[in-house]
Amino acid sequence: MYKHWINANHVEGHSGLTIPVINPATEELIDHAPRGNETDADRAAAAAWKAFQTWRLTPGLERAEMMHEFARRLRAKKEDIARLLTLEGGKPLIENLDEVEWVAACFQYYAEVGRDYKGKVIAPVFQHQINFTVKEPYGVVACIVPWNYPLLLMSWKVAAALTAGNTVIIKPSEYTPLSTLALAEMFEPFPPGVVNIVSGYGPEIGEPLVKHPRVSKIAFTGGVTTGRKIAVMAAENLKKVSLELSGNDPLIVCDDVDIDVAARGAAWACYLNMGQVCTSVERIYVFKSVAEKYIEKFVEFARSLRMGNPLGPDVDLGPMINEAQRRKVKDKLELALKQGATLLTGGKRPSNLQKGFYFEPTVITNVNHEMEIMRTETFGPIAPIMPVSGIEEAVRLADDSDFGLGATIYTNNMEYAMFAMENVHAGTFWINDPLTDNDAGPFGGMRMSGLNRELGTDGLDNFRDVKHVHLDYKIEAKSYWYPYK
Ligand code: NAD
Repeated sequence: MYKHWINANHVEGHSGLTIPVINPATEELIDHAPRGNETDADRAAAAAWKAFQTWRLTPGLERAEMMHEFARRLRAKKEDIARLLTLEGGKPLIENLDEVEWVAACFQYYAEVGRDYKGKVIAPVFQHQINFTVKEPYGVVACIVPWNYPLLLMSWKVAAALTAGNTVIIKPSEYTPLSTLALAEMFEPFPPGVVNIVSGYGPEIGEPLVKHPRVSKIAFTGGVTTGRKIAVMAAENLKKVSLELSGNDPLIVCDDVDIDVAARGAAWACYLNMGQVCTSVERIYVFKSVAEKYIEKFVEFARSLRMGNPLGPDVDLGPMINEAQRRKVKDKLELALKQGATLLTGGKRPSNLQKGFYFEPTVITNVNHEMEIMRTETFGPIAPIMPVSGIEEAVRLADDSDFGLGATIYTNNMEYAMFAMENVHAGTFWINDPLTDNDAGPFGGMRMSGLNRELGTDGLDNFRDVKHVHLDYKIEAKSYWYPYK
């Protein structure tokens, strides 16, 4: 039985109630996590607030040493944590080993960035004056995280927030709380209260955190519906909020590329983590002249992917996170087929996997923008492929969306690439290499995909306010004071 981590102590939840955590590959119980409530939120907020009074003034070098120590401890337990991530989340172990490594790298990136600038010097408007800005932390930050990349999305918030001088309360998803709670011992180098972890359901502990008077900022990753709710709650007290929300990412394939590579790259971007990536490719537009060959290659490749227990060797795809998500994807596919789409492969549970939330990698064609599958986030392993007449139509359709998280183009034609880049709304635009992140590059969404950015120096500024300091080193009466002449 796991516990909350509050003020550097493992503590039981106030209610004594727990959440069962289920292995999506076997549907068996893994363990329990505390089912937190308002009192737990209070305890965490009090600890974080107290710790903030000192942490906000701690020099960057000292903070950096603790962040590096966290990364060292995490790497030393990499296999254990990756295994736990696999058990509760269902991604293949190899992907979770990567996720743990990325978390360590993110903490190290911010450890060093935090030792760099903290503001800027501004040109004064009069003599003997000096103007500069100081970037200051907000205070206590509630970091609310989803289940698809539980540790990575935690790190993008926590590493930047701590570096900026905030203290944090982490609230992992109720589906994947164990790997986050297991990090408690790695956060031991930080002073008590600087990092707190509480688990539970969104409405029961997430909302009290969002509304808590000691919490100054909410950093949220999750669905649009929850994000909107959080933004409304935060607005009541004009709290700062950053939102990383849903996507409906397009991928364009032009006629000048290696079709085999473009099919494999797009299939990986569609099916990675069973399509449960916020930047999963959800719509593919391929030039008509190469569409037939492209679709053939894509289907052939989708059929070759190996599904099975994500802890096992030689596995490309594990299960989806839960039955509700699996059902949602199945229903959405059925609706698309009823509306006229054609199923080319997949669309069902694999016959050799009767337990677990498995769903075959799926390809459909004969789709159009009247269909829900092309307009809303699916978050599952379905690849709708639509032939287009050329770059103009591809870009018009790619941008025809309420979302704007990511977008990809495969082309060697500079004109095509730059035309698409300039005309498709997307927080990240990939050319010939979908889904790659960079700790130093900002990540986030346009339109309904979110507010603000994580990662890079934009991601650091996401967690700090700015103070303008005006200094006149010569005390004198000003000519523009009263009495007016
Ligand atoms: P979700 O919105 O259901 O939950 C996310 C988190 O919010 C969980 O910790 C949950 O407990 C908490 N929560 C739920 N209701 C709450 C409330 N009323 N108050 C406070 N907290 C609450 O999302 P999910 O199903 O866990 O994740 C999938 C979604 O996340 C997808 O839509 C996906 O696109 C999105 N996502 C976005 C990004 C990004 O960077 N833009 C990354 C990953 C996932």
